[in-house]
Amino acid sequence: MKIHEYQGKEILKRYGVPVPKGVPALSVGEAERAADALIAETGSETLVVKAQIHAGGRGKGGGVKVVKGLAAARETAQKILGMNLVTHQTGPGGQLVRRLLIEQGVSIARELYVGALVDRGTGRVVVMASSEGGMDIEEVAAKSPEKILKEVVDPALGLAQFQARDLAYGLGLKGDVAKQAAGFLMKLYACFVDVDASLVEINPLVVTTDGKVLALDCKMTFDDNALYRHRDIEAFRDLEEEDAAETEAKKYDLSFIKLDGNIGCMVNGAGLAMATMDIIKHFGGQPANFLDVGGGATTEKVTAAFKIITADPSVKGIFVNIFGGIMKCDTIADGIIAAVKEVGLKVPLVVRLEGTNVELGRSKLASSGLAVTTATDMADGAKKVVQSAAGGSRSGAN
Ligand code: ADP
Ligand code: MG
Repeated sequence: MKIHEYQGKEILKRYGVPVPKGVPALSVGEAERAADALIAETGSETLVVKAQIHAGGRGKGGGVKVVKGLAAARETAQKILGMNLVTHQTGPGGQLVRRLLIEQGVSIARELYVGALVDRGTGRVVVMASSEGGMDIEEVAAKSPEKILKEVVDPALGLAQFQARDLAYGLGLKGDVAKQAAGFLMKLYACFVDVDASLVEINPLVVTTDGKVLALDCKMTFDDNALYRHRDIEAFRDLEEEDAAETEAKKYDLSFIKLDGNIGCMVNGAGLAMATMDIIKHFGGQPANFLDVGGGATTEKVTAAFKIITADPSVKGIFVNIFGGIMKCDTIADGIIAAVKEVGLKVPLVVRLEGTNVELGRSKLASSGLAVTTATDMADGAKKVVQSAAGGSRSGAN
């Protein structure tokens, strides 16, 4: 799960990580009141109006503006709220801005980058730092990986003081500022572990002109499987920012992740779903989604899964790949037939069934009258669906 910058900063504050003063706003009126309160509190007229969307690159896209005074803050809030913000992370469609963060303007001397993530390679949390703050960190990693410093954390010890200091000095910081930065990293790590985050990025972490270290931006992503023990964080969920299909899938307890390709996949079991995506790619296709209907899929669940897949306009072919174990193939066949009858089918459908009651399942599909292409095995099914999706041939059932 992702959250907004202002929510991330609220969490950081609980762990003593320094952040600028700021107030979220859902309307222009709220933004004006927030600006008024901030000016009164800080004694400074310099404010920043920041679009809150679940994507980075807002600054370049025109979603972060430094302003002076109440009137300018109000005017800018009016412009940004409701705008369709396009950044390199939103895709060309952009994202509607529904929330703002009004923040005190900070006088910046240096912009740095720090982050923490669960690293699959080492199986540990890695804390990273770079002098290239404010830049797209993926680009830095690709072009000049030597500019990203890394410390692998021993889970039993946590981030050690000397590791935090190494990172701070590695960034070229000195004296009290280096000490503040090391302290910042220690607190950030404690926060990361405590909230079960999978990624925390502070880009930029700034050193102000008066020598203070602050988190100016915050991106936090959480491990969904641990959210049950963080109800307060779960309450930060903003469904309007999440993919509608993924939200719908959650309702039916389907594991669904939208991808960029054009072959819709319906599979039982996460391992088989992964293997299905691999084999589609192997034969030159691109999966449009990951979808695990789970072990006990019912007709209702299969119908919901079908609706989700067929509602995606980029889907040009569907591959159902089921290995019946506890699940019986005839139940799946019944589910597919009912689902296709209900939601229709405008793209080719390739079905591969194997396992318990496979003969019955296949014969039900054969006698259903639906334009279903049956596959003898996974490779056969993947080849067929890749071909039909590429050829644009339409089975046209219903
Ligand atoms: P994004 O990463 O989505 O572009 P950021 O929060 O990093 O958004 O803001 C972009 C840039 O705007 C920062 O790199 C910084 O230069 C400037 N900025 C953001 N917040 C403030 C602030 N409170 N005071 C001064 N400048 C800011
Ligand atoms: Mg940023």
